[in-house]
Amino acid sequence: MSENTKPVLRFAPSPTGMLHIGGARTALFNWLYARHTGGKFLLRIEDTDRERSTPEAVSAILNGMRWMGLTWDGDEIYQFARADRHRAVADQLLAEGKAYRCYATAEDLTRMREEQKAAGKPMRYDGRWRDRTPGPEEDGKPFVVRLKARQDGETRVQDKVLGDVRFDNHQLDDMVLLRSDGTPTYMLAVVVDDHDMGVTHVIRGADHLNNSARQMQILEQMGWPVPVYAHLPLINGPDGAKLSKRHGALAVEAYQDMGYLPETMRNYLLRLGWSHGDDEIISTEQAIQWFNLEAIGKSPARMDYKKLDNLNGHYIRETSDALLTAELVAFAARQTPPQVLDMQARTRLEAAMPALKERAKTLVELLQGAEFLFTDGPRDLDAGAAKLLTPEARQGLSTVLPVLDATDWSAEALEAAARAHAEASGLKLGQVAQPLRAALTGRTSSPPLFAMLALLGRAESLVRLRAYAG
Ligand code: GLU
Repeated sequence: MSENTKPVLRFAPSPTGMLHIGGARTALFNWLYARHTGGKFLLRIEDTDRERSTPEAVSAILNGMRWMGLTWDGDEIYQFARADRHRAVADQLLAEGKAYRCYATAEDLTRMREEQKAAGKPMRYDGRWRDRTPGPEEDGKPFVVRLKARQDGETRVQDKVLGDVRFDNHQLDDMVLLRSDGTPTYMLAVVVDDHDMGVTHVIRGADHLNNSARQMQILEQMGWPVPVYAHLPLINGPDGAKLSKRHGALAVEAYQDMGYLPETMRNYLLRLGWSHGDDEIISTEQAIQWFNLEAIGKSPARMDYKKLDNLNGHYIRETSDALLTAELVAFAARQTPPQVLDMQARTRLEAAMPALKERAKTLVELLQGAEFLFTDGPRDLDAGAAKLLTPEARQGLSTVLPVLDATDWSAEALEAAARAHAEASGLKLGQVAQPLRAALTGRTSSPPLFAMLALLGRAESLVRLRAYAG
């Protein structure tokens, strides 16, 4: 395949807020298709709405994309910077008689709509300036530029997901291309940018289906090729209702804060609307290999937080100890206030990781479970540990301490000594081990106790244990 026949995909967010979960899925699908086909994945920031676009939203989008690992090809393109080009296209359409100036005032249009409403007709622009030549009285008056769209026949969106969707052209009114202040509309800007960027495939939310029909009308007048369209089904909340703030976290950043891994998000979002047999766990590599437009589902996808947690647990276990340690160090540094893990903490963390990662579903849980490794000295007890360390248990601690102290400080020797001590005292190993664990970690569950004693070393372990021996 030659270079210019490769697909060109794009993600085109409006920087009016966070990168939300629906947008991230759109970005992912575009990215996957580009990587699957060896094509390009471009990023276009649609910042034409000057009032609602903010630099904070731009950074949130760029950071969210980077965090998700959705790298784009080349520099991102800012739509507003291309406004002159958009105007030039509108002027071309005007010059060719494919667009016209409409001098209708806001009052004219309000009256028109009221009359339509009163007559029980659909409310849309009635084309009053379509075939009218402006007279001297229009001189210097404000006007908008409207597309002279074909009125007969139909516009057929041949969608890869939804199939053929037909729109009667007479139901689509002549859309505005340039506002009276000369600024291009979203509809015009998207079409011009997609064309100039060589976009061959437009994958976006199903809420854009009508826009696609509209945009095809502009493409038709310009004689530009129509891209392949794929409109993604909506994402619903766990209750089946449209996903909204009420369902909690919508921003990708919130998932990062809750301790989900980028791999998890890619796998999870992929499955929100795309399937490969019964596969639930799909690595990014496999996803790139398998992704196609044909397997995108038609019906709305539903958020399932339990599934998200399980997937995250899977990817936490899959991640190498060294990498996971690095991820957790970075995650700790993102906390407020930032938690800085020094070299000793990192070394301990990596050594304890094989056991720690078995029980954590999120980085938050992993960090909590590892807390006892980070600082020296006696532990604060959580509720379970406090309950466990009864006067009797504390008494037990004080009898086992000298036994341990007399032993070689290795996991095996410590375990053997504790076992022997339990047997000699007529106790179960757990009765000896549980208070040790509680005093050593401040918690009732931890990675294997004797390995943790060995990891923390004789001096530090004894300080912690003595604090609760009574
Ligand atoms: N900027 C539009 C949005 O954020 C998307 C435009 C498109 O994908 O064509 O909804």
